[in-house]
Order: sequence, then structure tokens, then C-alpha cells
Amino acid sequence: AAKNDHRGVALATGEADDVAGRQRLTTLEELRVGLDRGELTLHYQPQMHLASGTVTGVEALVRWEHPRRGLVFPDVFLPLAEHAGLMGRLTLQVLDIALAQCRDWRAAGLHLVVAVNLSASNLQDTTLPGHVADALSRYDVPPAALHLEVTEEILMRDAARATAVLAELRAMGVRLAVDDYGTGYSSLAYLHALPVDDLKLDRAFVTHCDSDPRSAAIVKSTVELAHNLGMRMIAEGVESEAALDRLREWGCDLVQGYHLSRPQSADRFTAWLDERYPRRGAEAEIALH
Ligand code: C2E
Ligand code: MG
Ligand code: MG
Ligand code: MG
Repeated sequence: AAKNDHRGVALATGEADDVAGRQRLTTLEELRVGLDRGELTLHYQPQMHLASGTVTGVEALVRWEHPRRGLVFPDVFLPLAEHAGLMGRLTLQVLDIALAQCRDWRAAGLHLVVAVNLSASNLQDTTLPGHVADALSRYDVPPAALHLEVTEEILMRDAARATAVLAELRAMGVRLAVDDYGTGYSSLAYLHALPVDDLKLDRAFVTHCDSDPRSAAIVKSTVELAHNLGMRMIAEGVESEAALDRLREWGCDLVQGYHLSRPQSADRFTAWLDERYPRRGAEAEIALH
């Protein structure tokens, strides 16, 4: 079978695979350079506390401002970074940007919690907690203002070491969430033993929870499970007012999703917040500790 590469040249499939391989290599080399040049940036998506209706925090989501390709999304470069052993550096850069932003918001009276995602290799890195502590003190951000998210799938890889790293972070006062909850394979016994504070239910169960009875059942019982384990439940992928209403009714603690806002640059997020909550300070009081 013949395929066209991006220059419109017909190629046999084997050659096309070579092209894909070369493309990945090019991306990887560009990513190394991009990391050196500080081409990573963060977009922020609000998290709303449902009972009070206030925005208490944001999730920081990495983007790569590629000089020619424009904004590149994490699905494209995170797997490459992880594979090439660049994830340690990448995460430290993300933490730096997120905590600098958090400090600036705090200086402006906006006490927002910032959630940062960790990768599989981060959790195998016993130097991570020390780096996080350094960054927190460098930016003078209290540990409680930083949340770290780890996917359920990642947690299962090398559970013993991951648990030790997480326990150390949590002992510092950083809050931990299981991300994409419900898409991995963690047993309830395992969940019980994990040093985590929040369950972040995957959007696969959340988005249609107002119309799909099976999703509704899963959301309701996860809220109950989280609360019975002393955790908070965060719903991601909230795309409608109807879903938001059900989640409030079922006692979900925090929500995040396109219905509130898409992830956006710090400036645009701050403008969005100003428009939505003209009276600043209210959310500062309710900022979660
Ligand atoms: P995640 O941590 O589960 O983040 C949520 C993803 O869902 C984000 O995609 C967000 O833009 C998207 N999303 C938010 N609300 C909605 C909604 O209502 N509907 C739908 N359909 N999607 C929604 P994004 O930004 O492309 O990030 C994808 C994944 O990449 C993240 O999933 C996370 O696993 C990873 N990631 C992003 N930034 C970082 C980072 O700095 N470090 C690491 N290790 N991973 C990151
Ligand atoms: Mg996340
Ligand atoms: Mg998620
Ligand atoms: Mg995800």
C-alpha cells in the first residue's frame, strides 16, 4: 500500500513507518532544545468547590510553544519525553512555572491552589520530594497550595517505590489526588493503603452522568467511597449545567470541565476569574487547606 508523507511523496508502508520514526526523532531533538530554551508553558483550568460555588484552584496543563508548529499538546510530546528520560527535567520546569504563577496570584490576593500532574518516572525518582520542597521554598508557596495528581494506572507500576515517594510528599503537606480514577486497575484494598487525599473520577463517567444511568450510579458510589475513605471527590470532564446540577446533588466536592472553562493561559484565566467573580477575596477565604 502506498501512503503520502507530508511532502506529498508516495511511499511504501515500510518507508512510511521510517518517516514516522524519523518524525518522532526530530520531535525529540526539538523537545530537548525546547526544554533548554524554555518553550514549555502552562494553561490553567479552574476547579470549582461545588458547595460554595467558588473557584478554589486550577489544574496546570503543560503545552509546548513550538517555534514553527505552534501550540503542541501533551499527548504528542509527553510519551516521547517519558521514553527518552526527559520527564524529570520537564516536571521540574512545570513545577517552576506553576509555583511562580501561584506566588504571583497570592501576591495579588488570589489564594488559588495549583494542581500539577506527575508522570510514571517521577514516582520512581526518590529525589523528587526534595526538589518539590526546594521549589516551594524558592517561591515561598505553602505546601498546602500545591496539589499533585497521579494517574491510577501509574500508581500500579511500582507500587512500593511510588508509595514511598508519595508518602514523603504528603508528609511535607502537599495534597495528592488519584487522577483518571476508574480507568486503571486499582483494587479497593490498594486504594485503602494509598497515601492520597482526593479521588479524581475520570471524565468517561462524569460527562454524561446526567443522562446515562450507569454513569450516574458510578459517580454516586464514588462520591460515597471517597467520603467514606476520608477523601474528597473531584469530577473532571463536566461539560454541561445538567451534569453540574447532578454532581452538586450527589455531594461531589470539586468540579472541573469545559462547562466552567477550557484550560487557558494565565492571563486569560485571570481575566475570566475577574469577570466571573468581581469581588476578589471571597475565594481567598475559602481556599482549601
Ligand atoms: P489530565 O490530567 O486528566 O487532564 C485533563 C485533560 O482533560 C486535559 O487535557 C484537559 O484539557 C481535558 N479536559 C478538561 N476538561 C474537559 C472536558 O470537560 N471535556 C473533555 N473532553 N476534556 C477535558 P490535556 O491538557 O490535553 O492533557 C492531557 C493529559 O496530559 C492530562 O490528563 C495529563 O495526564 C497529561 N498532562 C498534562 N500536563 C501535564 C504535566 O505537566 N505533566 C504530566 N506528567 N502530565 C501532564
Ligand atoms: Mg490531571
Ligand atoms: Mg484526569
Ligand atoms: Mg487524563
